[in-house]
Amino acid sequence: MPQFPAGFTWGVATAAYQIEGAVAEDGRGDSVWDTFCRQPGAIRDGHTGDVAADHYHRWPADLELMSQLGIDAYRFSIAWPRVQPAGQGPANDRGLDFYDRLTDALLARGITPVPTLFHWDLPQPLEDQGGWLARETAYRFADYAALAAQRLADRIPLWITLNEPFVVMASGYAIGRHAPGRTLMLGALPAAHHQLLGHGLATAALRSAGVRQVAITNNYAPAWPASAAAADVAAASAFDALQNRLFTDPVLLGAYPDLSAFGIGGDGPGWVRDGDLALISARIDALGVNYYAPARLSAQPDAPLPFRREPIPGYPVTAFGWPVVPAGLREMLLLLRERYSERLPPVYITENGCSTDDLVAADGTVADQPRIRYLDGHLRALHEAITAGVDVRGYLTWSLIDNFEWAEGYNQRFGLVHVDFGTQQRTPKASFGWYRDLIAAQRAGAGRRH
Ligand code: BGC
Repeated sequence: MPQFPAGFTWGVATAAYQIEGAVAEDGRGDSVWDTFCRQPGAIRDGHTGDVAADHYHRWPADLELMSQLGIDAYRFSIAWPRVQPAGQGPANDRGLDFYDRLTDALLARGITPVPTLFHWDLPQPLEDQGGWLARETAYRFADYAALAAQRLADRIPLWITLNEPFVVMASGYAIGRHAPGRTLMLGALPAAHHQLLGHGLATAALRSAGVRQVAITNNYAPAWPASAAAADVAAASAFDALQNRLFTDPVLLGAYPDLSAFGIGGDGPGWVRDGDLALISARIDALGVNYYAPARLSAQPDAPLPFRREPIPGYPVTAFGWPVVPAGLREMLLLLRERYSERLPPVYITENGCSTDDLVAADGTVADQPRIRYLDGHLRALHEAITAGVDVRGYLTWSLIDNFEWAEGYNQRFGLVHVDFGTQQRTPKASFGWYRDLIAAQRAGAGRRH
């Protein structure tokens, strides 16, 4: 592996609902995911996050794993329903206590905490009032951000507001594959604006509470036309506007991208009010980039969405069936730099990883070589992007441990550490040792260059 720049941050990422469990403890309220998981047929095999990886109780052991890895930073998410069970009102101190203890324990181990405020677990009472379709939710999000920061900002430099608002809008409100399970198709677009407004309002609230650095995390996928036909090229560009630009242009450029392919006129979306874009485009200090795979699009005339995703043949696939295309990460980063030039803040890869069919062998090992190949390829592509001039400061792989993979339940394993969800036994996979050794070698190499 080539040498990454000195000071490059190595880490791992997780999210609250996917690992914590303990859904009824210490005053936590229901989130939309608790509700969604109870709907028959919503989650594969009827799985829920009720116990998940039991991280709420086993976090000291999980921190020990992080120390063994030698990471610099740990990205986790704060569960809004632990902090405000009803989605508004005063903080539930016992909920915040958990993240307070976690923060101190991370710092004691020399690991920088990187919290995400919203990784999809909206308090159910807010959903009952319209969720992200309601403008009010943006203001509630800023209140919650302030409460979390008042408790933790003194020890945490970099905060992430939202994780992948595109997925919340698309999977949650447009097609209903995720909580809250709405199927509004383009009627979901207000959920984009209100999340963005929430990001802007929360950014201001975080700064008032003393937070020094604010970021937003989006998931990006280079949009490849299925053919050179004009219709497919237009389909790819429509997808690009929705997935790659809708949540980034307003933040970095202060304007919505061209959404005419979705029947939205030049005056911009009707739900935008005066002053919103100024709030949304307040300076951020970093951009979180999640990358898993590119998308290949063909035209879909006379359908609610003008594009259709096509398979990408010719590449290995993950257990999820996602194509493994490391060069797509370099392509996306170069595109972001070209698109936003000096307005692009330093980038952190806040997620990248793959699911594999991992089994613990009789000798206690987990041979996840496909994950090692995936990570190795993507890190090389990332290094190329850095060499080409993209300012990338860190890489946080998804994920530390196997966890609740949303609609797939526990059937997709993304961890460097295998979790037996019956016994909660943790078993580091081959990729865990590989990543540990890589971090150690990078650190030694960076030291040599001083
Ligand atoms: C999400 C994670 C998820 C991962 C793998 C990302 O979209 O932020 O929560 O587990 O992808 O699907």
